[in-house]
Amino acid sequence: MDFMNLKKIWLSSPHMSGEELKYIQEAFDTNWIAPLGPHVDAFENEVANFVGVKHAAALMSGTAAIHLALVMLEVGSGDEVICQSFTFSASANPIIYQHATPVFVDSETDTWNMDPNLLEEAIKDRILKGRKPKAVILVHLYGQPAKLDEIIQICNRYEIPLIEDAAEALGSEYKAKKAGSFGKFGILSFNGNKIITTSGGGMLISNDEDIIQKARFLSTQARDDAPHYEHTHIGYNYRMSNVLAAIGRGQMSVLQKRIEQRRSVFEHYKTVLSDLPGIHFQPEYKGTLSNRWLTALTIDPKLSKVDREKVRLELAKKNIESRPLWKPMHLQPVFKGVPTYINGTSELLFKNGLCLPSGSNLVRKEIELIIDSIFKLF
Ligand SMILES: *Cc1c(COP(=O)(O)O)cnc(C)c1O
Repeated sequence: MDFMNLKKIWLSSPHMSGEELKYIQEAFDTNWIAPLGPHVDAFENEVANFVGVKHAAALMSGTAAIHLALVMLEVGSGDEVICQSFTFSASANPIIYQHATPVFVDSETDTWNMDPNLLEEAIKDRILKGRKPKAVILVHLYGQPAKLDEIIQICNRYEIPLIEDAAEALGSEYKAKKAGSFGKFGILSFNGNKIITTSGGGMLISNDEDIIQKARFLSTQARDDAPHYEHTHIGYNYRMSNVLAAIGRGQMSVLQKRIEQRRSVFEHYKTVLSDLPGIHFQPEYKGTLSNRWLTALTIDPKLSKVDREKVRLELAKKNIESRPLWKPMHLQPVFKGVPTYINGTSELLFKNGLCLPSGSNLVRKEIELIIDSIFKLF
């Protein structure tokens, strides 16, 4: 069989609802192409209502949302910001944009997210060194919420603001409340591979109206109220356009369905592959609901007699995209030498972990082909 003729199966590809064009047409009909416009307001309201926060600012990316959060916290040169090490680089890069220093904290094994004990150890140690962190960036990796109660308690105790990177976790829940609604700042992403997409985009969400007003101001070049262009702040060109927000509205109409579809893809893999020796899926911690953005698992090479790379390469031969889990930030050459608080968890997950194709548009036959290919290796 010539697998190169097979259609490529992607890790997570855009999945349109069909409603998007209706909203885009509306934008064209009214010539609200850019900037801003009624779809931006409506999209912000729809997302804020869904997540259960009071306010939202639509931006060009999730990375821009993290950056603005740090700008508003006045993070600058000489400051330190604690960040989960086990994440995508976009969680940490904005710390560098602000000329501050990241401090990376490792994960625990229940959720694969920031270890609260290690977080407290890191905060204490930084304070002892006279460098109290200006913020904590927490991630809900692959859609699985972190241990929010414990993390929030620690942030409150030391009075450090929490930035909740929910870029991968739109619709996920912690004790029946949506991810992204817990921190002083919540971050969402609508990048092409996320659970819903505007082709590219993000959002800053918060219950604090001042924060969101300020984010709208900063993201539109910080223009003061004057007939000419008057500036008292450095601004950014980060605001989402009305056409992209139109796509977002079409996507919001199917978000709940997309969560169910991703969860069902995960369940399909789990039901069949759990029979194989040495395979463990990302846990769903008690009291949480993951949107299962990506199906993530680990393969213990001692028990499986097959390692992660063998599985990944075998799938690649069949034109199936799978990927190792995120390489921890403390192992990235670009972050060499920054302070780290490590327990080995994320390094082991990275060594043995794999994300399988998880799109809501996968068909049964494709999932079965992937499962068959893995079974044949074992
Ligand atoms: C995708 C992602 C981001 C960045 O979002 P963009 O919209 O692509 O800028 C940030 N953090 C995490 C964990 C992500 O997965």
